[in-house]
Amino acid sequence: MLNSLGDFLEISGFRSVGVSSAETALELIRQNGFEIVLIDIVLPGMSGLELTTVVKKQYDMDVILMTGHQDEHSYEMAIQSGASDFVIKPFRYEELLLRIRRVLRERELNRERNRIMEKLKKLATTDGLTRLFNSRHFYNQLQLEVERTLRYAHPLSLLFIDIDNFKIYNDRHGHLEGDKVLARLGEIIKSCLRKMDSAYRYGGEEFTVILPETGAAEARVVAERIRAAIEKETFMVENAPADKITVSIGVTEYCSSESITEFIKRSDRAMYDAKDQGRNRVSIHPGPDASNPDPR
Ligand code: GH3
Ligand code: MG
Ligand code: MG
Repeated sequence: MLNSLGDFLEISGFRSVGVSSAETALELIRQNGFEIVLIDIVLPGMSGLELTTVVKKQYDMDVILMTGHQDEHSYEMAIQSGASDFVIKPFRYEELLLRIRRVLRERELNRERNRIMEKLKKLATTDGLTRLFNSRHFYNQLQLEVERTLRYAHPLSLLFIDIDNFKIYNDRHGHLEGDKVLARLGEIIKSCLRKMDSAYRYGGEEFTVILPETGAAEARVVAERIRAAIEKETFMVENAPADKITVSIGVTEYCSSESITEFIKRSDRAMYDAKDQGRNRVSIHPGPDASNPDPR
C-alpha cells in the first residue's frame, strides 16, 4: 500500500516519502519541511495517534489519519489527536486526493490569515508618516517596561523630543515639506538607537524614546547623539534654499516611587527646560528620589 500510495501521489503532482514506522517518520520530519503527514493509526511501535500528537505539538504540519474498517478508531479520536482529516481503509485514491487538496487549501488560507493579522497588528501600532510606533503603543510599552523595572530593579529612561520652531518651518515651506521632515527625523532617531530601544511619534511633532536598562547619564549620551545627528542633517526643499532643523530633548530616569503619568510629565518638563535654555539642547530632569541625584 505504501508503494502504490507513493506512486499515486507522484502521479498527482506531489513529492512524497514513505516509511513504515513512527520513529523513522519522526527522523525524516525533523530533517524536512513536509506539509502533510499521512499516518496509519496502526503502526508497529509508537501508534499513529501518538505520532500525530507529537507532530502537531512540534511542527507546523497537517496530519491525515488512516484506519481500517474493523479498527476501533473513530473520527473523534483522530480529530482530538490533532489530525486535520481522517480516511477509512480501503479508500479510493481520488477521495484521499480531495482531502489532501482541501487540507492544502486550508493551510494556504491560514497562512494568508496570519499574514493579514501581522499586517493589522503592525498597522495598529505604527504611525503612518514616520514609520515609528504610535502613541497608543507608547503607553502600552512604557507600562510593560515600568513593570519590568520594578520587578528587576533595572534602570529605565525616557526621552521627550520636540522640534524647535517647527511652526516657522511649516509657514516657510508648507505642511507637506514639514511632513517630509517628520518622516526623516523618524529615520534619524531610529538610526541612533540600540536594538532594545524603541521610538514613538508621541504627537504632531513630538517623539519619545524608551530606553530599557539605561540610567540617566547613559540616556543623556543617546539624546545628545540624536540631537547632533538632526542638527547635522540638511533638508532639501523644492524652489527654496536647503534648511536646517533642531530639536530639544528632555531626559528622565524612572524613579520607583512615581506613577507613569508623573514619569511622562517629568520628561516633558525636562524638554521644556531645554526650550527655556535656548533650544537645540538636552536637559535632564532629576528624579523625586533623594537616592537619585541629578546626574548633571
Ligand atoms: P517650539 O520650539 O516652542 O516647539 O516651537 P514650535 O513652533 O515647534 O511649537 P508649537 O507647539 O508652537 O507648534 C508645533 C507645530 O508643529 C505646529 C504645527 O504646524 C506643527 N505640526 C504638528 N504636527 C504636524 C504634522 O503632522 N505635520 C506638519 N507638517 N507639522 C506639524
Ligand atoms: Mg510641540
Ligand atoms: Mg515644537
